[in-house]
Amino acid sequence: MTTFPKATIEGYPRIGANRELKRALESYWAGRIDAETFRSTARALRVNNYNHLRDLGLTEDYAIPADVALYDQVLDTALTVGLVPGGVDLDEEFALARGNDTRVPLEMTKWFDTNYHYLVPEIEAGQEIKAVPERILRIVEEAAEAGHKVRPFLVGPVTLIALSKPAEWSLLPSLVEAYAEVFAALKEAGVEWVQIAEPAVVADLSTPDAEIAQHLRSAWSALLGRETRPNVYLTTPYGSAREALPVLGELGVEALHVDLSPWTLEADAGYPERVRAAVPDSTHLVAGLIDGRNVWTANLRERTDVLNSLGRGADAVSVSTSTSLQHVPHTLKAERNIPVEVAPWLAFADEKLAEIQALVAGEEGAKEAFAQSDRAVRTRAESTTIHNKAVVDRVAALPEGAVKREPAFKERNKVQREELGLPTLPITTIGSFPQTTEIRKARADHREGTLSDAEYNEALKAEIKQVIELQEEIGLDVLVHGEAERNDMVQYFAELLDGFVVTENGWVQSYGSRCTRPPIVVGDVSRPEAMSVEWSAYAQSLSDKPVKGMLTGPVTILAWSFKRDDVPLSVSADQIGVALADEVADLEKAGIKVIQIDEPALRELLPLRQDDRAAYLEWAQRAFRLVSLEAQPSTQIHTHLCYSEFGQIIDAVAGLDADVTSIEAARSKMELLEDIDETFHSEIGPGVWDIHSPRVPSAEEIAGLLRAALNHVPTERLWVNPDCGLKTRGYKEVEPSLRNLVAARDEVVEGL
Ligand code: GLN
Ligand code: ZN
Repeated sequence: MTTFPKATIEGYPRIGANRELKRALESYWAGRIDAETFRSTARALRVNNYNHLRDLGLTEDYAIPADVALYDQVLDTALTVGLVPGGVDLDEEFALARGNDTRVPLEMTKWFDTNYHYLVPEIEAGQEIKAVPERILRIVEEAAEAGHKVRPFLVGPVTLIALSKPAEWSLLPSLVEAYAEVFAALKEAGVEWVQIAEPAVVADLSTPDAEIAQHLRSAWSALLGRETRPNVYLTTPYGSAREALPVLGELGVEALHVDLSPWTLEADAGYPERVRAAVPDSTHLVAGLIDGRNVWTANLRERTDVLNSLGRGADAVSVSTSTSLQHVPHTLKAERNIPVEVAPWLAFADEKLAEIQALVAGEEGAKEAFAQSDRAVRTRAESTTIHNKAVVDRVAALPEGAVKREPAFKERNKVQREELGLPTLPITTIGSFPQTTEIRKARADHREGTLSDAEYNEALKAEIKQVIELQEEIGLDVLVHGEAERNDMVQYFAELLDGFVVTENGWVQSYGSRCTRPPIVVGDVSRPEAMSVEWSAYAQSLSDKPVKGMLTGPVTILAWSFKRDDVPLSVSADQIGVALADEVADLEKAGIKVIQIDEPALRELLPLRQDDRAAYLEWAQRAFRLVSLEAQPSTQIHTHLCYSEFGQIIDAVAGLDADVTSIEAARSKMELLEDIDETFHSEIGPGVWDIHSPRVPSAEEIAGLLRAALNHVPTERLWVNPDCGLKTRGYKEVEPSLRNLVAARDEVVEGL
């Protein structure tokens, strides 16, 4: 048998160093290129990546993984094994992902605790499962034609069902048959190694850990018992396996990957020891030592210690990343503006490949790499630019534990009512208004330097004026300035805060063709000057109605950034919290009476393990409360959440202690209101307009949702608002929808 490569990675960014796949996808969807052009572009990109990875040192056979989905790896696997039908036709594949005239898209949700989103297969007991092995054979063949022996990639059967809706375990035996068919086809095509990811073993999912372990045993003993199959490389990224670890050890796969990243070991320090005990020498061990989802230069000495602690001879262990590198940008080489001091501390995907090879070579064989790593570790620890004593002291002086704004909601609410004088069922929006082509162009021109600061400010103010006038004319009650100045709700603040570094080209796939450029928290965070006051104050000067100040909360800023690995997340969260508290104070001074602190990502950082969740929610809640801790009782603090099912964390949302909470609800038909009475005692705005769709909701429909809400929430605590910001919509939908919001409210109030 071909031995497993010594150096490998779990996956590589698919989107292209210059986002070529994104452009090709969007051109194809828009009808600008035909299917053949699209396919050949995607093929060229894949082959380029293989060549590039070989140039970077992945020269052994099967060292290069072919995780090459066009839209999403879960959808790709589901189509290949036929758990979801539609794997033959490109347009059907995209219809599943994006919807079309006749079908709604599959639901999308977060992939483990990353910012990547996968498509959730919809499955049912007794359904047909018909594999389409051609899909994966094509990938193998095209690679072979270009001279590469790549490792085809699939999500494993247990994880695939665990992530589907519902998790229909009765399908497992027939699903295993489909995998067996794909395996046989691969073997016949001459493939010697296949890579199968089973991260279901590292998370507490709807199926309990112990059951996952059983399913793993039954699925894999069946699959491994097949005669015609490639060697199986089973991987367990995104955390440590607990109950399933002994089972993984006993399965008898040819190679097993474990996630030994610093992040994982921080949560489970004993993991290497347990791995050593559980995995027999007959199974080749692949140590996921290099962090696949953060951007810090590895401490090669410390990583070598972890490698050695596995107690394996050099031939019985390989080095890899902890997860696919799809979660980090391609290369530092594409960056021109990273401070010279910071650059050596960073490793993006390509730089991580060098780290892997250094670990394989060992200190003797890679003296320079080890010396560089030592220097990075030392200069980062000693740097005076990223360590800010004033910030550290300020946070250390804060009261410990749960802080609480005084007076309590009831009393604040009285003052706020008098101060604001709002009507029954007040109407507001979530913040952003449509980002018009003109605004995007102004921002781009400003960045390029062809539009001066003064001209750019003029353009923004003109936009704000229009947005305010429109809201006045339609008759909304609490206005917003529209967020025209923000490219992105996190990036905007990261650029203005000290302690962050932003990239020019650090694109990371979020889902499908969507990419984000996460900022990097490099050090202690502070606010050199006001960030949003100018815009909010200008907007307020144009209206007698209250204009909401608009901030992104500390948890969301952190969730959508690359995080520090030298302090706990809670430390950065506290620092961002107090920086934003200063912004709240400045907004108040500028006459802003309502301030919204968005926390759409509160659910996203929820740890994968049940045991770790309470501690997370505690610091997350604290960081949020720090922002409003010193706010005047008369200042009405709003928060906004979206993107997920809140059932699990609804108590924590209530615990943010905002005066008003707006929350996504329209699509789920207000399901979340069921037991809201017990948890929520403050004011609440369940979204009554699904802004994720271009549809304009009628006034009757909105009125219906409001009446439904009134069954659970008393009149004096209910707000009227859309599900989320309006930046992705156009004015032609926004205007009539907002008018319908007003009409619906008026109608409902009349009937009270
Ligand atoms: N205030 C932001 C906006 O309206 C909130 C966006 C979000 O929740 N994702 O765009
Ligand atoms: Zn939202």
